[in-house]
Amino acid sequence: MRSVALCTAAFAIAMGMAGCKKEKEETDTTKVPGFDISSLDSSAKACDDFDTYANGGWKRKNPIPGTESRWGAFGILDKENKEVRLKGIIQEITQLKDRKKGSEEQQIADYYQSFLDTATVEKRGLEPLKPYLDKINAVTSLKDLAAISGEMQKVGVSTITGFGVEGDLRNSKVNVLYQGQDGLSLGERSYYDRTDSITAKVRTEFVGFVDKMFSMAGFTDVKPGQTILDFETKLAKLQLTNVELRDPVKTYNKMAFADFEKLMPDFDQKTFADKQDIKTDTLIVQNKPYLQNANKLLKATPLATLKLYAKWQLLSRFAGYLPKKFDQEDFRFFGTVMRGTKQQKARVERAIRSTDGLLGMPLGKLFVKKYFPEEDKKKVSEMIENVRSVYGERIDKLTWMSDSTKAKAHKKLKAFTYKIGYPDKWKDYSSIEIASDKLFENVISASLFGHKEQVEKIGKEVDKKEWLMTPQTVNAYYNPLNNEVVFPAGILQPPFYNRNADDAINYGGIIAVIGHEFTHGFDDQGSQFDDEGNLKNWWTASDRANFDKLTKKYIDYFSGIEALPGFKINGALTIGENVADLGGLTLAYYALEKSLKGKEPAPIDGFDWKQRFFLGWAQVWHMNTTNEALRNQVQTDPHSPAKDRINGPLPHLKEFQAAWSCGPGSKMVLPDSARVVIW
Ligand SMILES: [Zn+2]
Repeated sequence: MRSVALCTAAFAIAMGMAGCKKEKEETDTTKVPGFDISSLDSSAKACDDFDTYANGGWKRKNPIPGTESRWGAFGILDKENKEVRLKGIIQEITQLKDRKKGSEEQQIADYYQSFLDTATVEKRGLEPLKPYLDKINAVTSLKDLAAISGEMQKVGVSTITGFGVEGDLRNSKVNVLYQGQDGLSLGERSYYDRTDSITAKVRTEFVGFVDKMFSMAGFTDVKPGQTILDFETKLAKLQLTNVELRDPVKTYNKMAFADFEKLMPDFDQKTFADKQDIKTDTLIVQNKPYLQNANKLLKATPLATLKLYAKWQLLSRFAGYLPKKFDQEDFRFFGTVMRGTKQQKARVERAIRSTDGLLGMPLGKLFVKKYFPEEDKKKVSEMIENVRSVYGERIDKLTWMSDSTKAKAHKKLKAFTYKIGYPDKWKDYSSIEIASDKLFENVISASLFGHKEQVEKIGKEVDKKEWLMTPQTVNAYYNPLNNEVVFPAGILQPPFYNRNADDAINYGGIIAVIGHEFTHGFDDQGSQFDDEGNLKNWWTASDRANFDKLTKKYIDYFSGIEALPGFKINGALTIGENVADLGGLTLAYYALEKSLKGKEPAPIDGFDWKQRFFLGWAQVWHMNTTNEALRNQVQTDPHSPAKDRINGPLPHLKEFQAAWSCGPGSKMVLPDSARVVIW
């Protein structure tokens, strides 16, 4: 089951954040400097290219390891959390003498073992897929196709449409079924219609990749790669762009299930839903024309092609759990071709990450016991309140917002809730069946568990205590339906939060992160939700027009930035994150100023508190990235590339210009008329 609705706006980049070897003792915060001045490149000018000035030295010292596509603070900390700390926890569990069947220890140890048991994986070959393949081969109608597609969707195999369950955007207390577009192997429609030579080469590589996978599987289909690419290209043309998907009003179409069925009369949605145990009279449809057009496409496509497509989606979903040749080929395409990662991680590291992916919460429970100091909860909640109070003061000072809208903005700000570290209550995962020699079945069991959990939520009250990230995750999020900000234990570590650093560094780090998440409550999407998390307008028309004018200016500004030759940032796709960065930085800066109460702390390493604040922000975003990953990010990710999260917002801040005494002609300075100040 796919998540299809608007839900979270997370802080970090979405994927591929793993990282290289880092010595254990570095995580001992007593030894981590607030800002290491060897990270600087003093041959660059702070006022011309702040990223190179603040991070040039770091970038030179930290090339991208072969097993990564990008390398920065997130990836390094993520690697520490997973490949050192979780590894230690898992390996300790594997040493335990008795592990009760169904206990979390048994599940963790046996799943880890099953991932490492490559002899069994090799011996079984494609046999685990056979029941599904037989059913696909037996398909003789679109109704049959709907049945097997529904069955496969339960275990995570994509098709052209999918269901998800979340709070109703207009009644956020109750869970509801959502329908959304799906089924593009390359992830995003621009991969199918961009005409540049680099994207064209990705498509050619994709054809070869599919052909090779089919040939290794012993399938005798002729030219499956081109046929599948052609089908997906037609499908892509019918889909909403990732910018259109940002519109919560346009993508909210509540209707009776019976009416939904009529939108796609030839693909039996009733059977598709029945096979997934979904029972509901109503649902929220993302885009009606898509369903109508997809129905036409299905009718016009030979059944043989649709069966080929179903086989491909199945093979692709499970490639990582099949014999080595499939796993390696899958990595070659998605890792190397798509993201520029040269080398696959060792099996043992992947076993840890796979265990984390499947049993992340049980592992998180052990992680926080060992690595999260309880006193941090209090410190972080103080920081959150600090940001809240500065945000309130900033709202009062806004010149573009009327008093009546300000009052409602205050109401929403006051209603923000937060979660820190880890969940108050832990879910029961004991019904997931895990055996040490059945990797495939383990994955199936966990998928079915997750699916059942989702389906059972339909029509029930939303559990406001639920966490959408595991505690060990190096990230944070804002959930508009709960009007809440969430900070997992994983990010509450250096360089984001350094217990021993000076305040300026922490304000440029974790406090700016907190400010970023708060701002999501008032970005292009979050601002459409009220204090109770409902999609409901609380703005006057003229205030909304002012807000839209400001964000439009910021969209145009980012759209002018070329991330690499031929690939410009999509300002409309990244507007929510860019606004959150701009707001987060502003809030954090003034929260720091307020905390100083007029005192001027002594400079450190020659930098005063204002300069160190901006160095703190730059440090969070020091990163080396392969060109492939950068292109992929620009096409698919709502977050701007790391360099532009530094150099993009800072020219809009007068505070930056003052801190570094930048002259008016400097590259990091914009004239007042070009500056965007929203919050
Ligand atoms: Zn964000």
